[in-house]
Amino acid sequence: FLKGKTALITGSTSGIGLAYAKALASEGANIVINGFGDAAAIETERTALEALSGAKAIYAPHDLTRVEQIEAMMAEAARAFGGVDILINNAGMQFVSPIEDFPVAKWDLIIALNLNSAFHTTRLAVPYMKSRRWGRIIQTASAHSLTASPFKSAYVTAKHGLAGLTKTVALEVATFGITANCISPGYVWTPLVENQIPDTMKARNMTREQVMNDVLLAGQPTKQFVTVEQVAAMALYLCRDEAAGITGANMSIDGGWTAQ
Ligand code: NAD
Repeated sequence: FLKGKTALITGSTSGIGLAYAKALASEGANIVINGFGDAAAIETERTALEALSGAKAIYAPHDLTRVEQIEAMMAEAARAFGGVDILINNAGMQFVSPIEDFPVAKWDLIIALNLNSAFHTTRLAVPYMKSRRWGRIIQTASAHSLTASPFKSAYVTAKHGLAGLTKTVALEVATFGITANCISPGYVWTPLVENQIPDTMKARNMTREQVMNDVLLAGQPTKQFVTVEQVAAMALYLCRDEAAGITGANMSIDGGWTAQ
C-alpha cells in the first residue's frame, strides 16, 4: 500500500530503524536509509530492501548531529525521489551518568541527535508533504518521553522535547493530510540497549544480570523486551489511511511500563 511513496528513516542501519525500513519496503516504498556502520553490511541491507520492495533504496551516510549534513541528506532524497512522504526520526544515542559528572559534550551531542535533528528533518520535509496533501511524520520517542530514570538526563530531556515537537507539528499540519506521532517503546533488545549495560553496571555497581533484571526489565511488567518487529508494525499502521485520525499522539509499546 506504499507503492510510489518515499520513506526516509534516520538511524536505519541497525536496530529499530532497520526494522522500520524492512516493514515499509515490504509494502513497496522507496527507502532512504541513514546511519553509520560497515559499508559492505549497509550495501547488503540496501540491496535486500530493493529486493523486498521492488522499488529503490538509497543510503545517506550523513551525520545528523550537523545541520548542514541534514540539509544535504534531505536535498539528496529530493533529488532521488522528489521528496519524502514518510519521515521517521529514529536516530538516537544514550549516555548514562550522574548529572554532576555528565560530560558537556555528550549533552550537546545527544540533544543534537535525539532532538534537534528531528526539528531539521521535519522543517525540510513538511513543504513537500503539504504540496502532496499527504504525509506521515513518526518519531521513535521512548517511554522516557513520558517518564524519567536517573542518570539519563540528556536522553530524557531530548525525548520529552521530541514529544512536544510532535504535538506542535501535528497541530500545524493537521489540515494537510499529514499526521505526526510518537512511538514510545520501553526496552527493545537492540545494540543501543546492549551497549549501555557496562555503563549502568559502573554507575549502579551491579553485575550484568542485575542490570538486565533489576534495572532494564524492572519497570517492564511483561518482563519481556519489546521486539523491533513490534515497533515497526506500529509505524506501518500509522502510515495507513485508517490511521489518518491519529495525530499528535504518543503510542506506547512498553510492556506496561508507563501504566504504573
Ligand atoms: P541503535 O544503536 O541500534 O541504532 C541507532 C542508529 O542511529 C544506528 O543506525 C546508528 O548508526 C544511527 N546513528 C547514530 N549516530 C548517528 C548520527 N550522528 N547521525 C546519523 N545516524 C546516527 O539503536 P536503537 O535501539 O535501534 O534506537 C533507535 C531509536 O529508538 C533511538 O532514538 C532510541 O532512543 C529509541 N529507543 C530505543 C529503545 C531501545 O530499548 N532500544 C527504547 C526506546 C527508544
